[in-house]
Amino acid sequence: MLSCKELVAHSSDFLDGQLSLRERLSVRAHLAMCRHCRRFIRQMKVTQGVLRALPETAIPELEALAERLAQQRRKP
Ligand SMILES: [Zn+2]
Repeated sequence: MLSCKELVAHSSDFLDGQLSLRERLSVRAHLAMCRHCRRFIRQMKVTQGVLRALPETAIPELEALAERLAQQRRKP
């Protein structure tokens, strides 16, 4: 079973489809149990989706949000 920290560490690879099947299953199993991480992944998805949809446009609020998420991920 992944810890929340491990899930966060894997989250961008998970969203990019870069995880192996086994890793993906561990992430999904964790998400099924942990609503905090579900919310985190949902936020990441929204952020990534919006950033991809608007690659040329700088939106300060979004950049601040992306930066905040990146900082959360770097926390030990
Ligand atoms: Zn969790």
